[in-house]
Amino acid sequence: MAANEEIRQFLAGRIWLRQLLPFPQEAIDEAIQQRSIQQIKGVKVKTTWHGKHYTCNRCLNENQMRFTVFQCAQCEAPCAYCRHCLNMGRVSCCSELVIWTGEAPLFPTEHRMNWQGNLTPAQQKATGELLESTKQSVSHLLYAVCGSGKTEMLFQPIHYLLKEGKRVCLAAPRVDVILELLPRLQAAFPDTIVEALYGGAEVERFDAQLILATTHQLYRFHEAFDAVFVDEADAFPYTAEETLQQAVRKAAKPNSPIHFVTATPSAQLLAMNKKQGNISLLARRYHGQPLPVPRHEALWNYDKQLKKKRIPKKLLDWTQNCLNNGQPFLIFFHQIELMELAEPLFQQLDGKICAVHAEHADRKERVQLLRKKEIPGLLTTTILERGITIPNVQVAVVGAEQTIFNKGALIQIGGRVGRSVPHTSGDFVLFHQGVTSAMDEAKREICKLNKTEVPL
Ligand SMILES: [Zn+2]
Ligand SMILES: [Zn+2]
Repeated sequence: MAANEEIRQFLAGRIWLRQLLPFPQEAIDEAIQQRSIQQIKGVKVKTTWHGKHYTCNRCLNENQMRFTVFQCAQCEAPCAYCRHCLNMGRVSCCSELVIWTGEAPLFPTEHRMNWQGNLTPAQQKATGELLESTKQSVSHLLYAVCGSGKTEMLFQPIHYLLKEGKRVCLAAPRVDVILELLPRLQAAFPDTIVEALYGGAEVERFDAQLILATTHQLYRFHEAFDAVFVDEADAFPYTAEETLQQAVRKAAKPNSPIHFVTATPSAQLLAMNKKQGNISLLARRYHGQPLPVPRHEALWNYDKQLKKKRIPKKLLDWTQNCLNNGQPFLIFFHQIELMELAEPLFQQLDGKICAVHAEHADRKERVQLLRKKEIPGLLTTTILERGITIPNVQVAVVGAEQTIFNKGALIQIGGRVGRSVPHTSGDFVLFHQGVTSAMDEAKREICKLNKTEVPL
């Protein structure tokens, strides 16, 4: 029984490769016999008239291009494994996945919420609506502009669920967002077991009641959560990958609500929630000031000029102006190569200016240095488009016409400006070689939100 209890603690709500379970084979066999564990094939094979069709039972990948057929030593036959979730351990036709089907674990119902801040009336209204949807198990889209204080609006619904003894997941596509959320959630719920899961995380507790996870990690869950909150729902790669959306659905218990929180919902997400759920719009920042409206500035041949080791005049003047005024700045580039070409040129203006992109392990520290005013400005890729707050930051986009700067990305980038009191505004300039419809749409949406008082 004690062994069973340990297995339950580890396995409840998860879908795991049997061979990777840290328990003796006899204990697992016994649990299977007692029907506390169900065993399923790693990859499901269906024979159709044009050959074999594979489905991964862990990540639900059905893209046949993402399976590799090989001569398997274990089953001594042609076998196939899923490449889509390969980094979590190889799942093949002959490997076994296990699911806990025994008695469900009970979670504590006593939870303290320790958060001193105040919600604005608009935040209160939105959080109340989200709570109501949570109680009714209806999915909810919280459409809240950048700088409106989204995280705080989740506290009340999460607290409600925890006190009901429910298990809750807060998922986000990017690990940066998870790392930013973790200390805030731990501080808000000091008595609750909170665990953060992401690639390379050291997992201590498998039975945490509140789990923060990158959406990829949800492949490892099976009907675990009574509610899932997907933060930054529109961020790459969540929208791009259907399997990730299925993973979120699979990680939630049937009929549990999946809530979305974002400043830039896709048309698809809006349509889905108009049809089957509820929507709250929060068009005001918490400090009540309008969102910065982008300025369009033509910057012809910026790439050619940078390649000739020259900063285009308008960009040079803009940067010099920030340096003279002691205002921190972010300059967004669409391409790492172009940014790295520009880095030494900007360093001639100030030796401390530097560049960050996804591969830089120390990008957090560099952002921290900018916040502390130890460096004057950063050149960056879209990696810094969301999740960061730097008081009084000024923002420029170089090459705003590039396709990577879609409407959502531009709105997120502009959302970095004017976030904190007393600097509730600032410059948001789009340097371009030809205005795109994404630029127009971003500007139109920002202006519309600034005028909005009533929900959609
Ligand atoms: Zn898979
Ligand atoms: Zn095999």
